[in-house]
Amino acid sequence: MTDTYRHKGLRKQLAEIVAGKGITNLKVLKAIETIPRHLFIPDTAFHKYAYEDKPFPIGSGQTISQPFTVAFQTELLNLKEGEKVLEIGTGSGYQTAVLLEMGVKVFSIERQKALFDRTKDFLPKIGYGSAKLFYGDGYAGLPTFAPFDKIIVTAGAPFVPEDLLTQLKIGGILVIPVGEGKEQTMKKIVKIDANNFTSEELGVFRFVPLLKEKGKD
Ligand code: SAH
Repeated sequence: MTDTYRHKGLRKQLAEIVAGKGITNLKVLKAIETIPRHLFIPDTAFHKYAYEDKPFPIGSGQTISQPFTVAFQTELLNLKEGEKVLEIGTGSGYQTAVLLEMGVKVFSIERQKALFDRTKDFLPKIGYGSAKLFYGDGYAGLPTFAPFDKIIVTAGAPFVPEDLLTQLKIGGILVIPVGEGKEQTMKKIVKIDANNFTSEELGVFRFVPLLKEKGKD
């Protein structure tokens, strides 16, 4: 687990690439510059590409999202320090680390036991142990810890899960890629009051699918 000056230089360049694609939130860019992304990729053969703006395999058929996508979703959340954020799809924990760098409290759910175990062990080792990680089904959210100021879904959802809307505070934001096929439309949903929401569509992305229930696959 080494982080070198070369890695730091590459991260600075990555933050510039992401900024060049339209991300303006300085805290988000700073998070990308700070977090050693290569350490989140278990197969060291990919480490030399870790600071390219691309997704990579992380095992169990899953991927670490493209940095631009992570930055885009984080920016849409319009985070304020101290807010309570629910993430669906912990995966490598990279997005989790970005959220922690934004100064918020993070609750994150992963349905694949192998990924959950690895990330739970890994995050504290690089200083991101304050995230609360849960092995479970993201469709159900975390009723015990609700309501949340913000919710971010990092897998492609066939529809917007009702439970997540319920667990959002009034005025809260849900950022979720929605679509049945390989491509999804990024949606920013704002909860106006208990039964009313606004929804904005913000481009097409490619995520691995949000799957039902806890899985062994
Ligand atoms: N945020 C992650 C992205 C990982 S890809 C990162 O930065 O690395 C999406 C993740 O969502 C995968 O790990 C997948 O196993 C998980 N996932 C899929 N369906 C889920 C569900 N119903 N509940 C929780 N996690 C789910």
